Amino acid sequence: MSGAQQYKTLKGMQDILPPDTFLWQSVEQTARSIFSVFGFQEIRLPVLESTGVFSRSIGEQTDIVEKEMYTFTDKGGRSVSLRPEGTASVVRSYVENNLHNLPSPQKFYYSGPMFRYERPQSGRFRQFYQIGVEAFADPHPRMDAEVILMLERFLSGIGLQGISFQINSIGCEQCRPGYRDALLSFFSGKADQLCPDCLRRYDRNPLRILDCKSAKCIAARSGAPRITDHLCDDCRQHFGKLQELLNMLHVAFTVNPEMVRGLDYYTRTTFEVTSQGLGSQNAVAAGGRYNRLVREFGGPDTPAIGFAVGMERVIGLLKQSAAQEWPAPAVFIAARGEPAGTEALSLAGRLRDRGLWVEVGDAENSLKSQLRRADRISARHVFIIGDEELKSGQLRWKNLHDASQGVIMMTEIEEFISGIC
Ligand code: ATP
Ligand code: MG
Repeated sequence: MSGAQQYKTLKGMQDILPPDTFLWQSVEQTARSIFSVFGFQEIRLPVLESTGVFSRSIGEQTDIVEKEMYTFTDKGGRSVSLRPEGTASVVRSYVENNLHNLPSPQKFYYSGPMFRYERPQSGRFRQFYQIGVEAFADPHPRMDAEVILMLERFLSGIGLQGISFQINSIGCEQCRPGYRDALLSFFSGKADQLCPDCLRRYDRNPLRILDCKSAKCIAARSGAPRITDHLCDDCRQHFGKLQELLNMLHVAFTVNPEMVRGLDYYTRTTFEVTSQGLGSQNAVAAGGRYNRLVREFGGPDTPAIGFAVGMERVIGLLKQSAAQEWPAPAVFIAARGEPAGTEALSLAGRLRDRGLWVEVGDAENSLKSQLRRADRISARHVFIIGDEELKSGQLRWKNLHDASQGVIMMTEIEEFISGIC
């Protein structure tokens, strides 16, 4: 390519190509069917929002807002950002469209690309896809249990193995301040042991240190007070009831009092799903309750809970456990010259109308090269049309999978093929 510019995807962004796209589609299909039997309905929201939608909700002093957002000024001089996650946009939409007027609880799911300017590595991209759900207006732990059960059903439905659920409660506006004080006094003598980010912002939200991945902070937080020892009665009861319900529903989980999540909007229940197969980027899905966010966006006081699944990590795990297969056409029609080529096109149309995947050979090529192509794409049945076949009205057929073959009247093909496909 003499001197021509070779374009490449941006760092941290990737093309998703067949056969992987078949796997993506099947995961998305399973999500749709499982979420809809739980009564969740799809919403599709813009990928670009006012920057405030994210900074207000996720928190000014979080990694996502401080470092990872694709923020720019648009031609009208507004600060806009590519969405780094879904919940903030869903809440913006819930309030903007008065979705609280729909029958309660209102349950939604979304799927689409998210953008974070992170250091790309295995399982970590700058454009990545999430499938997520949000359930509004039900404060009871039964909704927490139902949402977690639905996530479990989805992950097992797509065949993920070796996953575990961790749950925690990070309290509410009643009990979190007391816990925050306990953390502040625990870390007050350890400031020099914190990473620069946590040192800078720990007095605003010391829970951040518990979520920090730097080795320094992991060491410094050993022996830190546990949120589960500081919950108010209501939060403790909520968390206890959730555990009771998950046990009743046979969802296996462990309580991890250190799992606090890196976003500011959570209250009470938080949860994360990890997989042994993923190395250090081991979280496949995460979520929690956010009972104050709708009010903060100017809506009515509305409790809510949701989760988001990281698609690339799920797909990566599925690819580890099974070889990727290309789906194969049901029928390949090989035709030699004209008018056989035209007849092949017409037959293909009739079979496609019956929902069959049909490929047609290039009638200008030799029969041999057309059959080679049928073999390469693993077509199941091959029909051969040449001048003789057109005259006699009989076609030769071959089943490339079991090597059986025979002849069939052209007029009987549709019946024949629907009997065997
Ligand atoms: P992590 O701890 O891996 O950084 P997170 O806490 O930032 O995850 P969330 O914001 O809760 O993640 O997003 C939910 C899920 O989205 C994660 O569990 C993960 O599977 C996926 N995810 C998050 N960031 C990325 C990314 N940069 N690339 C690919 N997947 C991601
Ligand atoms: Mg992250």
